Amino acid sequence: MKKVSILIPCYNEELSLPLLYPELCKLMDDGVLRRRYEWEVMFVNDGSSDNTLSVLQGLHAADSRISYIDLSRNFGKENAMLAGFDYVSGDCMVIMDADLQHPPSLIPQMLELWEQGWDDVYAKRLTRGHESWLRKRLSLGFYAMLQRMADVDVLPNVGDFRLLDRKCINVLRHLRESQRYTKGMYSWMGFRKTEIPFEQQDRVAGESAWNFMKLTNLAVNGITSFTTAPLRMATVLGLLVSAAAFLFLIYVLVCTLIWGDPVQGYPTMMVVILFLGGIQLLALGIIGEYLGHIYHESKHRPTYIAREMNGKLLADGTPQRL
Ligand code: UDP
Ligand code: MG
Repeated sequence: MKKVSILIPCYNEELSLPLLYPELCKLMDDGVLRRRYEWEVMFVNDGSSDNTLSVLQGLHAADSRISYIDLSRNFGKENAMLAGFDYVSGDCMVIMDADLQHPPSLIPQMLELWEQGWDDVYAKRLTRGHESWLRKRLSLGFYAMLQRMADVDVLPNVGDFRLLDRKCINVLRHLRESQRYTKGMYSWMGFRKTEIPFEQQDRVAGESAWNFMKLTNLAVNGITSFTTAPLRMATVLGLLVSAAAFLFLIYVLVCTLIWGDPVQGYPTMMVVILFLGGIQLLALGIIGEYLGHIYHESKHRPTYIAREMNGKLLADGTPQRL
């Protein structure tokens, strides 16, 4: 019998989990699906500060299909998902959020497509649920920019809600960069992909953990971990400014030769100095972003630390299973 894993990263989801669990049971206890597949639900507690862990412990005690990994602190959703990739044991894995924004009722359709031979069945939202106008605009703008700059085709309105075949899971487990942008990785790894449209619901309970800073960080990570185009842009910008400066130099020389040198030009001088200063800082900032990446990766720290799994300490001292 094939085994299906459902991976759910959780950060402060004590209110959503009691609503999510019955939905999952409805899915797993469905007559056909129950006979056809063995199920595993892998929750990753990403250092929640509320009672998420005890809720998960309760679920695990009551239902042997439920497993959980407890991380030693909040490592962020991207790293929490990697912990899940390391420990799920299914022939395929469905990743979904704990807040029921991703309806479990879509999973049978995903499984059907998987059985037909698709390796990566992703859900594409038709509506984005409740979200501010600014966040929506910025998010769409970011995807447009990333697609133009990077070689990988990261799709807008496609999130982490997807089914991945075992071969995809194995690839993802080997991508161990610490500044993760998993959405880019799905596109980068290739394999046979297909999409299912769905209507995204509002979060059932609790609050979204993403604030503007976190999203900006994710966006910068997305760009800097998949393309060096900003560095190229800095070069091009430098060349353009140098060319303009050269033309201006000729102009100033000619003017001085023809009309002499009346001391003037304070405004021009200031504008040029400030403009060049700005561009230099921008270019330094871009280099700095990449340097920061190199710095973090060169430390080779584990991307997450797991404290326990299903109540057992991970005894070997190496939280990552590679
Ligand atoms: N999440 C996580 N670690 C974090 C932030 C979020 O594991 O640091 C989980 C969260 O519990 C949820 C999923 O990631 O299951 C999506 O988070 P959220 O609903 O807050 O994001 P949004 O839907 O607003 O993008
Ligand atoms: Mg959500």
